[in-house]
Amino acid sequence: MSKKEKDPKIQEKITEFKNLCNALGLKLTHQRLEIFSELCRSVDHPSAEILYKRLLKRISTLSLDTVYRTLMTFKEYGLIDKIETTENQSRFEVKMSTHHHFICKNCNKIYDFDWKDFDESALPDNLSNIGGVIHKSVIVYGYCNACDEKKNEKVNKLRF
Ligand SMILES: [Zn+2]
Ligand SMILES: [Zn+2]
Repeated sequence: MSKKEKDPKIQEKITEFKNLCNALGLKLTHQRLEIFSELCRSVDHPSAEILYKRLLKRISTLSLDTVYRTLMTFKEYGLIDKIETTENQSRFEVKMSTHHHFICKNCNKIYDFDWKDFDESALPDNLSNIGGVIHKSVIVYGYCNACDEKKNEKVNKLRF
């Protein structure tokens, strides 16, 4: 059992998911529950492919198509979040708390970060000319420290 699996917050989320499925009239199949639970335990905002590979160890009858379609259904019902990336692959997460994303342009890793000031600040007035906002979140792009370090290593190797 991984560290995150024991997290009571995850158990809470899974219970909440079950209740929501009931309330929404969404059939709670074994596969759906496994897919949601696995995404809950993932901290890396996996793509459908990555999630599928992880689940395959437990459910050998699973297909990538099922994982993808299930994630899209969850997304439609607002049970999970899809992160808009510049990659072709969609990335998914179960949001445990309000946070924003840092996407590394080199390794495509998605990092969570908090930005309380942004969360608490009011939206600009001129947005009402465009439409009503239901959700706001920030994506920042850059190079993560791990990639920066690797790059510096390379540069140093060239130099010396
Ligand atoms: Zn990186
Ligand atoms: Zn996130």
